[in-house]
Amino acid sequence: MGKTIIAGPCSVESHEQLREVTAALCKMPQVNLIRCGVWKPRTRPGGFEGLGEPALRWMQELSTTYNVKYCCEVARPEHVELCLHYGLSTIWLGARTTTNPFMVGEICEALQGSGMNVLVKNPVCPDVRLWLGAVERLQQVGIGHISAVHRGFSMYHNNGYRNAPLWEVAMEFRREMPDIPILCDPSHIGGRADLLTPLSTTAMLMDYDGLMIEVHPHPADAWTDAVQQISPDELARLLSEIMHTPVAPDSKAGPRLAALRDNIDTIDHSLLRMLSQRMELSRQIATIKHELHMPVYQSSRWADVMRDRLQLAESLGLNSSFTKEMLERIHAESVRVQLEP
Ligand code: PEP
Ligand code: MN
Repeated sequence: MGKTIIAGPCSVESHEQLREVTAALCKMPQVNLIRCGVWKPRTRPGGFEGLGEPALRWMQELSTTYNVKYCCEVARPEHVELCLHYGLSTIWLGARTTTNPFMVGEICEALQGSGMNVLVKNPVCPDVRLWLGAVERLQQVGIGHISAVHRGFSMYHNNGYRNAPLWEVAMEFRREMPDIPILCDPSHIGGRADLLTPLSTTAMLMDYDGLMIEVHPHPADAWTDAVQQISPDELARLLSEIMHTPVAPDSKAGPRLAALRDNIDTIDHSLLRMLSQRMELSRQIATIKHELHMPVYQSSRWADVMRDRLQLAESLGLNSSFTKEMLERIHAESVRVQLEP
């Protein structure tokens, strides 16, 4: 399946800036859609808030001149009305909007019966239910073409990212809604142009359906998000580096992959059998604890177990936070089993 590439400036700044970036992007066959901010949600007051209606008028004009399609963010029902008026066929809900079910509801009312394509960015906070809820609200008003956009999450510690990627949250979204295509927005996750390649590579390895990337004709002069935008030439280089056509497995690679997967299946089956045996031992222990009037939860034994297992895990080269989380989960289940009447 071909990937969807959405590229364009964070914000429309002038007719000439939009024309220049459009003239460059329309020559790139991988780019399907041009993104541009017309109304900009600013966390603090005082910044550039977007040009509004005049930008939409230029988009309508340039879409005919260059035979391209544009999309922009909407945050209020009036924005939807204007996008419909100026012939846009795709809009997106920004991260701040997805966080707010009242706003999503009002936008959905305005979209009812419109046939608009809608992209739904993840909410600012890592609550997958808000993301799913926004998609469900759009489905309820009959929006047929919906995609999700993973743009990262606002955390107190973001580990060097502008918005922590938390790939596991997007994975949960995909498990819940496997039929909704998902794009990655590495620009807003990374917040820096130099993070675009590693993040886009990860997105491709995670089999995302596409990317949304901020591209400006002169990134250093951008009015918003200057440090994360790249030029059209840089976009072309990035895409050629990260997009690989899958190679059909040759006569050796196919059987090698199948054999390794067989081993994984066998190991998973053993892991589950051993977990079941472990729970059975917990039940027997519960009987003895009961006879001895001992509490089920034994904090010092649990601390010893954890210390011992973490040491072993380290010597085996396993990630310690993964091991810790897994053991905590197993212990919680063991306690639950022992509390069973
Ligand atoms: C944007 O795409 O320019 C934007 C403001 O995005 P987000 O809603 O992800 O912050
Ligand atoms: Mn931006």
